Amino acid sequence: VTILGIESSCDETSASICRNGEILSNFIANQKVHEQYGGVVPELASRAHLQNIVPVIDIALQQAGVSLSSVDAIAFTQSPGLIGSLLVGSQFAKSLALSLNKPLISVHHMQAHVMANLIGVNKPSFPFLCLTVSGGHTQIVKVISTSEMQVIGETRDDAAGEAFDKSAKLLGLPYPGGPLIDKYAAEGNSKRFQFAEPQIEALDFSFSGIKTSILYFLQKETKKDPDFIKNNLSDICASIQAKIISILLKKLKKAALQTGIRELCLAGGVSANSGLRKSFQELCTNNNWKGYIPAFEYCTDNAAMIAITGYYRYISNEFSDLSVSASARAAWS
Ligand code: ATP
Ligand code: MG
Ligand code: FE
Repeated sequence: VTILGIESSCDETSASICRNGEILSNFIANQKVHEQYGGVVPELASRAHLQNIVPVIDIALQQAGVSLSSVDAIAFTQSPGLIGSLLVGSQFAKSLALSLNKPLISVHHMQAHVMANLIGVNKPSFPFLCLTVSGGHTQIVKVISTSEMQVIGETRDDAAGEAFDKSAKLLGLPYPGGPLIDKYAAEGNSKRFQFAEPQIEALDFSFSGIKTSILYFLQKETKKDPDFIKNNLSDICASIQAKIISILLKKLKKAALQTGIRELCLAGGVSANSGLRKSFQELCTNNNWKGYIPAFEYCTDNAAMIAITGYYRYISNEFSDLSVSASARAAWS
């Protein structure tokens, strides 16, 4: 079974070929145009998707050594995301399915982030828990099977990735700041500065308070020393990163203890964070749980996660018809 996966929910145009559960190619075109604006500009994103989509799919096919006619089904991101961006990928996928007379598979982007853990040889077994931490979402997902997932905890306000990016912005770092905080944190002392800990019930998260706590802290310190940020950048980044990681892993641990599930995964762009990866592995080792993290290229937005989801949908006969339409927000299943 050969699946073409297409991802266009935000600012990455990506295409991937999956054959029998193995990823043969995963080509990603990043949109540089947004950097100067400090965030993704929706209108520019859809325009860039329009320019990228044909060459991106061509390259993915070429790199996999697969011709369009040997593709068995087309999987695409149907929701959630920027509507203009989603429309480009979904209309293209639908047209392709119609012209090739091949089945169409619509994929939920957040379920696909979770499914990235099924790429490769070292896979979790069901049921497992997945902490999905991305630019727009923070969720603890109970994964019962490839097509049955429940969100058992999520953020009430900002996502973990937003907490990284907004903190980075306060430090004067360019967008997206998450990877830069990671880089500076590596040389810093994470115990030097303390930030407020949110008090949120159950398995839910909150990240808007920590952003405010960082803002006030920076205002206070730069009043005393205008070069405070410059002189302490590594320690500030390390302290912010440690706080975000601690908030995330406390809830994941609680979820594991509550459910008794001993197979844990990470997913989403923030799972590229080296501090989170390390602390997650430690948490698993200390509790005798099994921990899984997707390879770097499958953490941030990519089409391989759409193609692998498409593959599992294909073998369980879950197809969409051509009337399916893109949606900015959508039900979880
Ligand atoms: P969603 O999937 O919720 O729609 P998204 O697709 O935009 O959002 P991803 O591409 O999965 O999100 O992740 C992007 C986020 O990951 C950004 O907030 C970015 O700063 C963050 N990120 C990427 N690498 C790192 C890192 N090394 N450390 C911290 N954050 C990181
Ligand atoms: Mg992105
Ligand atoms: Fe994403």
